[in-house]
Parts: sequence; C-alpha cells; structure tokens
Amino acid sequence: MQDTYRREINYLRVSVTDKCNLRCIYCLPPEGIKSIPHEEILRLEEIEAIIRGAALAGIKKIRLTGGEPLVRKGLEGLIRRISSITGIDDITLTTNGLLLPSQAAALKEAGVKRVNISLDTLKEERYREITRGGELAEAWKGIHSALDVGLSPVKINTVVIRDFNDDEVEAMARLTLESPLHIRFIELMPIGTCNTWTEGRFVPAREIIDKINRGIGILHPVKMAEGDGPAKYYRFDGAEGTIGFITSMSEHFCENCNRLRLTSSGGLRPCLYDGREVDLKTPLRRGTGDREIADLIMTAVNLKPDRHHMLEGWKDKKRVMSQIGG
Ligand code: SAM
Repeated sequence: MQDTYRREINYLRVSVTDKCNLRCIYCLPPEGIKSIPHEEILRLEEIEAIIRGAALAGIKKIRLTGGEPLVRKGLEGLIRRISSITGIDDITLTTNGLLLPSQAAALKEAGVKRVNISLDTLKEERYREITRGGELAEAWKGIHSALDVGLSPVKINTVVIRDFNDDEVEAMARLTLESPLHIRFIELMPIGTCNTWTEGRFVPAREIIDKINRGIGILHPVKMAEGDGPAKYYRFDGAEGTIGFITSMSEHFCENCNRLRLTSSGGLRPCLYDGREVDLKTPLRRGTGDREIADLIMTAVNLKPDRHHMLEGWKDKKRVMSQIGG
C-alpha cells in the first residue's frame, strides 16, 4: 500500500508491552513510568487480529518491540500464530537481550528470523549506570545465545551519547572485525527522558565515521538488500560484521519511510514523532473484523507526514518511547 507521498508502506512495529526490565537513562525516568492499566494493554489475540488486518492492507514485515518484548508472557505463541498469517514474511525483535538465553531457541523455532539487541557500552560499570542496574555479562550471554541458535543477522543497537559512551565507538566498531555482529550507531533522538539534555549530548554520525576511519581504518560502503532498513552500512576490509549508522537527526530518511507503529494500548501511529494515533483497540473490542481493521490501517497510512520534525523537540506529553515502541 502507498501513502500520500507514494511511499510503499509494508512494515509494522508493534510494542507488545510498555514494561521493561531495564530503565535506560535516556529512555525512562529513575522511578520508571506508571504502567498502563492491564485492561488497556492489547491482549495477544488482539495484536494477532491487528496483524491479520495489517497483512490484508499490505504489511509484510513485523518487528516486536516495547518496552522489553521478552517480558511479555506468551510472546512465543503470538509469534507462532503471526508466522502463519498469509502475507507476513518477516518477523523480528528489538530487545535488550537479557532474557534471550532462555528464550532464543524457542523464539527462532516460533518464527523469528533475526534480532536487534541494544548495547550501548562494553564497560560493566557503565552498563549498570546507563541501564540503571543491568549486568553487561547478561547482555553478552543474550547476544551469544542469539548467535548460537542461528538468528541472523544479529544487529547491535548502540545509541551514542556525548561524554558518556562516545569514547567507545572504536571499541564497538572493532567487534565487527572478528565476529558476525552488525553494529548500528544510532543518533540520540529528543525522546523520552533525554529530552531535557539532548542538545549537548548529540553526536552526529559523520563524527563517528571520521573517528573510526582515523582510529581503525577505512570503512567501505556496503550495498544492503532492499528492506534492510534506514541504516547506511559499511565494512572494514575482511571484517565479519558490518557497521551501520542511523542518522535520524543529522540526515533524516523519511522519504524512504515504510513503517507504522502500534502502541501497546492499541493506537496506530503514522510516525514516531507524530502524536496522532488511529485507535484500533476500541473498534476491535466492539467486534470489528479483519477487513475493517485493514481500512483503519489505511487511514493511518494516509496520515503519514512527509517527514518528522524532531529537530523542533519532543512535544508528545502523552507517551514515551517504551509505550510507542522503540
Ligand atoms: N527494550 C528493547 C531494547 O532495549 O532494545 C526495545 C525497546 S527500546 C525503546 C528500542 C530502541 O530504542 C533501543 O535500541 C534504544 O536504545 C532506542 N532508544 C530509546 N530511546 C532513544 C532515544 N532517545 N534516541 C535514540 N534511540 C533510543
């Protein structure tokens, strides 16, 4: 399906829960956020019904995220049911990886093909600080279990923050020399708790590329397959993995945007930044069928703005990233 700017929309990101087992400093306040009441969160069968409607409308690719998707009970069963929906040909996850050791094999078997794991530092103490209490060793166990069960590719999401972890970009980049990891450096966006301290903390991708080129060696652009998302990828000569840059702020890629976002409470967002939402939960709970859900999905597609306006700051007082789905 196409939006009003003739972009092909085929990708739905689904926040399966607003709950998270970490509280990353740029994402959530120290006390966490007040959970959305249980009855307002989409039930798994409702998520499945929305994805059935989405597939009818032309969605092919699903990413389950949150919050932390692996804390949602019954996730594996949901994935198995989504895998059997005609038209859905790709199911992926964005996770902090902590629960992967016990779940990776079952998730793969249920239909997950690949996974993005968030890791902002290689230092134990810093990991505790940035995640407010997480253990780096646990995240690494998760990364290894994803590799071991054959989820591929395994991409690592690293948000770069000035004077916090920008001294580690070379060490992170070096990981790709010897292991089949795909490190993606993400520009900090003015969303969540970082809203108040974004400006001085933002590091443009260009600066990271220059630092890596100077410190390690020349990065060569890599042509990725269609549908590989908004990152621009590079590789060192002979390296196993790749290095990607997500330049949401310094060079937006909205002209190629192919996505919609379903919040954990059933709002369909045309754009991460855009506060407008099409309510899918109320019609679903009134018994609306797949075809009508597909029509509502088209309504959201038609609302997609030409581009985000994040440079003007985060005006959404209603929701944070974990509720919308990062
Ligand atoms: N809990 C999962 C995880 O840790 O990957 C999924 C949800 S998390 C919100 C998804 C991604 O959003 C993470 O990679 C996180 O680093 C990123 N993220 C959160 N806040 C961000 C911000 N202000 N700027 C850039 N990326 C952000």
